Amino acid sequence: MPSKLTRISKHLYVHHGVVNVGILINDDKALLIDFGDGTVKDNISELGVNSIYSVIFTHHHRDQAFGFKATDSERAGIPEQEYKWFSEVEDYWNNPANRWHIYNFHPHNLMLTESVLITDRYKEGDSLRFGDATISVIDTPGHTDGSISYIIDVDGQRVIFSGDLIYGEGKIWELYSLQKAEAMVSDYHGFLGSRKQLKQSLLKLLNQSPDILIPSHGEVMTDPENAVETLIDRLDICYDRYVAISALRHYFPEMFSEYEGRSGHMPIRQGKPVPSCLLHYGTSWFIISQNKDVFVIDCGNNAVIKQIKEMQNKGEIKDVSGLWITHYHDDHVDAVPEFLATFGCPIHVSEKMADILENPRGYRLPCISPSAVKVSNPTKDGQSWMWNEFKMTAYHFPGQTYYHGGLLVEDQNVKMFFAGDSFTMSGIDDYCSGNRNWLGKGVGFDRCLELMEEIKPTHIFNCHVDLAFDFTDDEIKMMRSNLAEREKIYGELFPWDSANYGMDEFWVKCYPYEQDVISENTVEIRVDITNHSESEKKAICRPVLPKSWGIDVKPKSASITAKSEGHIAFSILIPKDIQPMLYVIPFELIYDGLALGQFREAMLFVKKT
Ligand SMILES: [Zn+2]
Ligand SMILES: [Zn+2]
Repeated sequence: MPSKLTRISKHLYVHHGVVNVGILINDDKALLIDFGDGTVKDNISELGVNSIYSVIFTHHHRDQAFGFKATDSERAGIPEQEYKWFSEVEDYWNNPANRWHIYNFHPHNLMLTESVLITDRYKEGDSLRFGDATISVIDTPGHTDGSISYIIDVDGQRVIFSGDLIYGEGKIWELYSLQKAEAMVSDYHGFLGSRKQLKQSLLKLLNQSPDILIPSHGEVMTDPENAVETLIDRLDICYDRYVAISALRHYFPEMFSEYEGRSGHMPIRQGKPVPSCLLHYGTSWFIISQNKDVFVIDCGNNAVIKQIKEMQNKGEIKDVSGLWITHYHDDHVDAVPEFLATFGCPIHVSEKMADILENPRGYRLPCISPSAVKVSNPTKDGQSWMWNEFKMTAYHFPGQTYYHGGLLVEDQNVKMFFAGDSFTMSGIDDYCSGNRNWLGKGVGFDRCLELMEEIKPTHIFNCHVDLAFDFTDDEIKMMRSNLAEREKIYGELFPWDSANYGMDEFWVKCYPYEQDVISENTVEIRVDITNHSESEKKAICRPVLPKSWGIDVKPKSASITAKSEGHIAFSILIPKDIQPMLYVIPFELIYDGLALGQFREAMLFVKKT
C-alpha cells in the first residue's frame, strides 16, 4: 500500500496530502471527503477504484478544494451555507469591501481563485448512503462559519471527518480563522472570537460517540474525547492569558467582567492628566511648541485639518511643521494626503512601514487604507532630531501591528511616548490576529515593553485615549512574563515549531499583493516568507497561472535563515490577447518538506494595451 494511505477499515481509507482526503469505497467507485491538490487520484487505483462518484467538502477553504475540477467526479457536495464561496468566488475577489478597510474577516479569504461546479448542498440532518456506509451531516461552525462534519458509519465503526475544527490531541492548525465578532465588538476586535462556537461544535462531535476523528489538517485521532478535551482546556488557558493583559479591557470592560480579579490579570490603571503642550483630537495628538508651531501625530479624518485651520485662524497655533504617523490603519492615515496638500510639512514614518503608506496596493492587511502618500523621512530605529525645544526619537514599535512606530518626545520636564494604538491603561493591543503580533524574546510586544523599561517614559499616549498613562516596573515585568508564558502555551496549541506560524497569518505573503499589468509585459511578484523557527528552513514555491494562459512556471526554492524573512521572486510574461480583468494568482508552497498547497495569492489586474 502506498505510504500516503492509511487504512481505517475495509471500506474506508485516508489519503495524506496537502489535506487528509477520506476515501470511502463501494466496489470500484469512491466517495471522497475533501480533495486537496487532487493527488489522491494517483493513489486510488491501488484500492481497486476506477471512478469517483462524489467529492464532499467540509468547508470552503482553498486548501480543501484547489485541485478539484468538475470532471474529476460525477457529483460535488458542499456545506449549504458556503455555497457562494465555491460557486461565486469571482464576486468575492472583485468586491473592494473584501480588499480595503478590512474590519470583518468572514468569510476568510483563503478562498478558491476560480469557482467550481457544485451538484449537492448539505446541511445538518441530511444523510446519504454509499454502498454499506451511511453518511450523516452535522453543522460544526467555528473554523469557518459554515463548516460541516460528516459522520460515517461503516464496517461497524463510527468515523467523523471534522474539517479543521481540531488538528490533533489538543491542537489546531492556526488561530487567525477564529478571529470573529462577539458580544459588542467586530471581527477586528474578536481575538479567538469563535472559540465558543468551536468548543460547542467539538462537544457536538463527542456527543456522536465517534471511534475515530479525522481532521482535514492533522492526525487521525483514535481517542477523540481526550483529543477534544485537551484542546478545549488549552483554548481556555490561551484565552485567559490573552485577557490578563489585554488593552481591549479598557475599551470594553463589560466584555470581560467574568475575568475581573483573576489571578495573573493585571489591574486596569487610571489615566493621568496630559501635559499642557498637548491636545488630543479624534485619533490625533497635537504637540504645540513655545513658538506656537504644531507637530501632528496621525491624521485619520478631514476634521483634524479643519480643527487645525480653526486654531490657526484664532491665533492659537502657527505653522504645522511636521507629521508623524504611528501605523498604517485607515483611522490614522485616511486624510494624510489632504493633510500634506494643505500643510506641505515633512512626514516622518518608521522605515518598517513607509512602503505600506507609499504603496498600499502592495499589501493585504487588516484596516488597510488605499490612500497613498510619499514619505519624506523614513526613520531608522533610534533616530533622533530636534523640533523646536523638543528632542524627538523614532522607534520601530512592533506592538499593535508589526508595521508600527513609536515616538519619544522629551524636554527637561517630560518624556512623552506616543505608542500609537499599542497600549491602553489595561495592557497591550493584540486583539487582531491579522496584525502580525509575534511572540518571542525581543520581538513583537516583548520588544515594545523592553523599550519601555529602557526609556521609562513619564507619559504614554494612545491615539484613541485622551488621557496619559504609564506602567510601573512590576507591571512591565508581569506583561513580559505573560508573553513568555504565551509563547510556550500557544506553541503547544499548534503543530508548528514556533507559535508564530499559527498566530501570524502573513508569515507568507505575496509582494506586491496587487498590481496592474498590460499584456505582453513582464510582471514581478515576490513571495516573502518569514522563518519563525530556530533553524534554517527550505521553501519551494510556484505561481499557478490560469490554464488559458498556456504558461507553466517552474518552482523555485530558497533556504531561509532562522528568525528572518526570505524571498522567492518570479517574473511572469503576461500573454497576448488575454481578457482584461482581475486574475487572482495562487502560489503553491512547500515549507520544510510540508506541502501547504495554494497557500497565498496575488492579484493581477490585466489592463487593455
Ligand atoms: Zn480550513
Ligand atoms: Zn490601529
